[in-house]
Amino acid sequence: MWHAAANQIPYDALVLATGSRPFVPPVRGRDLTGCFVYRTFDDLDALRATARPGRPGVVVGGGLLGLEAANALRLLGMRPHVVEAAPHLMPTQLDSGAARVLHRHVTELGLRLHCGTATSSVDSGADGKVRAVTLSDGTVVEADLVVFSAGIRPRDELADAMGLTRGERGGIVVDNLCRTTDERVWAIGECAAVNGRCYGLVAPGYRMADSVARQLTGQEPEPFTDTDTSTTLKLLGVKIATFGALRSDHGHAVEAVFAEGTDRYAKILLSEDSGDLLGGILAGGTGSWTAIRSLVGRRPPANLEQLLLP
Ligand SMILES: Cc1cc2nc3c(=O)[nH]c(=O)nc-3n(C[C@H](O)[C@H](O)[C@H](O)COP(=O)(O)OP(=O)(O)OC[C@H]3O[C@@H](n4cnc5c(N)ncnc54)[C@H](O)[C@@H]3O)c2cc1C
Repeated sequence: MWHAAANQIPYDALVLATGSRPFVPPVRGRDLTGCFVYRTFDDLDALRATARPGRPGVVVGGGLLGLEAANALRLLGMRPHVVEAAPHLMPTQLDSGAARVLHRHVTELGLRLHCGTATSSVDSGADGKVRAVTLSDGTVVEADLVVFSAGIRPRDELADAMGLTRGERGGIVVDNLCRTTDERVWAIGECAAVNGRCYGLVAPGYRMADSVARQLTGQEPEPFTDTDTSTTLKLLGVKIATFGALRSDHGHAVEAVFAEGTDRYAKILLSEDSGDLLGGILAGGTGSWTAIRSLVGRRPPANLEQLLLP
């Protein structure tokens, strides 16, 4: 008979949900005093202890989390700069039209944006602490502190110890049912690479968890698919929302854009074959995300424009 050691728990089924850690790009000076990541309460405490009202701070990365970090600096009284390598903020979720609305709002709030340029180095003063950030276009931005928010990397090191397959870009490889190559082991959330792709939001993680829970309790499992990557941005007073699919995986799709300057923007994607609503992007003073999202997979009503831009 097999006996578990005191600190060992035998299992019939094991679900790995080890999450991820922040990715810090390999730029010179990234370890200087005054460089931070933005993930845990300890990170926030350290940031708060260093922040000086009226002084500049740089956030590296203009995604959802980078904007949240920039807002944190703003609320601490600092002057936040955001550096984003892509041509506009939130490149994963937004197109340039929606980003224009976001840019105007956050600029009015005092964020200084540096898009389309990367971070070359973090530079120190005589005291060895962060003094500035040099961008790849040669711009030097004065900074008392730097917050790296340039993506995440899955915490997948258990994969090696367990002989599980790791994705090319990290993550424990699983299929649509979150099964690893070991039939008793599943992986869900940010540590999982579903068919090689990792997801950094709670909604996909919940769907993976639900699918595995169903399998473990003998119910019909719902395979995980990435057709719905809906997100809402609730910070900085700007309403940004995406719903459904932002590209068509099956057949042709047509786009319709309803734009009004830099105040509001709405784009939808329709199936060319069926005319069904596939997904879309809303930015600024647009209609109810929940109501519009519920129309996905159906032919949109005649008053769609009114719903999008009431
Ligand atoms: C500041 C911040 C704001 C965010 N805001 C949003 C948002 O508005 N909307 C959204 O959708 N998503 C948001 N996210 C992302 C969201 O938090 C993550 O997608 C989600 O938490 C991932 O869940 P998870 O369970 O996979 O990993 P985690 O929540 O990271 O949990 C993994 C846990 O496993 C533990 N662990 C790791 N290795 C081991 C081990 N070997 N043994 C035991 N324990 C281990 C870790 O310590 C951790 O507690 C945000 C993330 C951050 C950091």
